[in-house]
Amino acid sequence: MTAPAMHGGLRLAGNKKRSTQSALRIAAAPSQVVLPLDQHAGTAATPLVQVGERVLRGQPIAQPQGEISAWLHASIAGHVSAIELRPTPHRQQPAPCIVIDSDGSEESAAHEPVDVDRLDAVALCEHIAAGGMVGLGGAVFPTAPKLLLGRQADEVHLILNGAECEPWISCDDMLMRERAADILRGASILCRALSAARCSLVIEDDKPEAILAMQAAQSAAHPNIHVPNIDVRVVPTIYPAGGENQLVTTVTGLEVPSGGLPSDIGAICHNVGTAAAVARWIDHGEPLIRRIVTVTGSGVAEASNIEVVLGTSIADVIAQCGGYSGRVARLLMGGSMMGRALASDALPVVKASNCLVVALPTDLQPRGTEMPCIRCGNCSEACPAMLLPQQLHWFARAQDLPALDLHGLLDCIECGCCDHVCPSQIPLTQQFRDAKPALTAHRSAQAAATLARTRFEARDARLARLESERQAKLAERRKSVG
Ligand code: SF4
Ligand code: SF4
Repeated sequence: MTAPAMHGGLRLAGNKKRSTQSALRIAAAPSQVVLPLDQHAGTAATPLVQVGERVLRGQPIAQPQGEISAWLHASIAGHVSAIELRPTPHRQQPAPCIVIDSDGSEESAAHEPVDVDRLDAVALCEHIAAGGMVGLGGAVFPTAPKLLLGRQADEVHLILNGAECEPWISCDDMLMRERAADILRGASILCRALSAARCSLVIEDDKPEAILAMQAAQSAAHPNIHVPNIDVRVVPTIYPAGGENQLVTTVTGLEVPSGGLPSDIGAICHNVGTAAAVARWIDHGEPLIRRIVTVTGSGVAEASNIEVVLGTSIADVIAQCGGYSGRVARLLMGGSMMGRALASDALPVVKASNCLVVALPTDLQPRGTEMPCIRCGNCSEACPAMLLPQQLHWFARAQDLPALDLHGLLDCIECGCCDHVCPSQIPLTQQFRDAKPALTAHRSAQAAATLARTRFEARDARLARLESERQAKLAERRKSVG
């Protein structure tokens, strides 16, 4: 099936060959794990354990707070040795973490497999939440609230994201090659939770082995896989085809409205890794306690994809991939476009850790000196969100929040395409990232002011009505007395 072309985007060198040459590895269990309480979008979880307590592998150790939050489970058996602030790879500031020291046992908490046919859709969503499921593509949005949002649409289309468009990252590619049936089983469960009428799996055309594996799994008869109308869509390799809104447009031909969500137009996207994790939880009772991480870059001896227990130190993971192989210029979590530079390898692998790039100087694009904008328009041509980055740049510099709002700053997905093509080397994406909190605060202040004005006007109107009723009663009384 031909997919509609995405606006903008870039054809980038994938740098995925080295990490996909060998089969998926399984990392050895670590002697200690550090588990941040906030390794998902939304509110941090609250600890359920205390220092000194013994915990089993898979035991819930922190519970969600509020609607957007997630359960956290012990990823090894052992003793809680600390609950304290620690540096993490996904936040600038130290965050509260539960530290567990292994006792060498592999004792697991008992979670029975679940017969999904016996659960109604809402109970199934609740059970998925209890497994600590979050989006494994990097955004780590809790899975259950997303499913519940999708259930509000009249007819929902589940879109499985196997595009994996960002350079260096290949964990989804390897998962599709090696565990295609698990992904389809997860898709079958997600379709049931959503009551989805349709399901599409999107893969970029630079992953021929993954495409074949998924197509083969689709044609094989699996007794527990019931995915209605699934189609495997092969799309051109263009960054960022795997962005959520871009994916929805590619599959449905519809645009997600500005400031809206895919569910507004009846679409819900889940990463293929999330689908496989959901299947493992439902069928084998294993909550989200491990994930596949791509370890790559010229600075690691054996680039590969490795399944790692959450909370393992990054240094340990790199050591299990043959260690460092040169003078490392930068360590990144994520790909080269949207990844985050890490200050140290003494940080833990978290649910968002899809990729570690160990970059030597030759892996990095040297950045020149920033020059003034020459209004060449390259950035707006490349922008997949159809924004005008050069205009946003001027408004961000002037801190003109109403203009930034009008020009859709909050629709920017921080993909980095504008930076990449800017001949003036302007760090546009960083400017936009920095301007967003001020704009969000400005919007909240405006909403509060509008609410206060509406309340004040309603109060005025109510007082005027009471006064006119009082006057009318007085006039009536005078008439009856007279
Ligand atoms: S690409 Fe750079 S120089 Fe060209 S219009 Fe955009 S911001 Fe200006
Ligand atoms: S970072 Fe934002 S403005 Fe720049 S290309 Fe991506 S979506 Fe557009």
